[in-house]
Amino acid sequence: MNIGQTIKAFTLWEFVRAHALTLKYFFKAKATINYPYEKNPISPRFRGEHALRRYPNGEERCIACKLCEAVCPAQAITIEAEPRDDGSRRTTRYDIDMTKCIYCGLCAEACPVDAVVEGPNFEFATETREELIYDKAKLLDNGDRWERVIAANLAADAPYR
Ligand code: SF4
Ligand code: SF4
Repeated sequence: MNIGQTIKAFTLWEFVRAHALTLKYFFKAKATINYPYEKNPISPRFRGEHALRRYPNGEERCIACKLCEAVCPAQAITIEAEPRDDGSRRTTRYDIDMTKCIYCGLCAEACPVDAVVEGPNFEFATETREELIYDKAKLLDNGDRWERVIAANLAADAPYR
């Protein structure tokens, strides 16, 4: 053992250094958060749970063009459509199999009227696979629930689209 190592051993140098490092991080801002009571901010481009949006007058945005169904690489979207009495075209069925979805965002990119979107919600774990087969009512409910955040996120991202 050389002289330097001997001095370090007698002065408990490694022990002192370890405690100094502990104290340094003890007074620093914490990197962890108390989830689920605290949450990190998420990007306006975050791809979370899907939703179908409405116009402010309550009319659903989707015009049943089926572009989202055609572009979906996972074939997770199933749409059936019929013309209404007023001649407008609307879906009679809009299902997304969330167990197939890979959250690529192509459905939202393809939609000409910003009807289908991936919202900010990431807390939608279920106990059964059946609960992850979303129908039109569920998707419209999601849209109603998250519309304020979705609209703000789309507006924030608009200059870059
Ligand atoms: S996010 Fe991608 S995989 Fe999921 S439904 Fe949309 S297009 Fe399909
Ligand atoms: S959600 Fe958009 S892309 Fe899909 S069918 Fe409706 S209007 Fe077309």
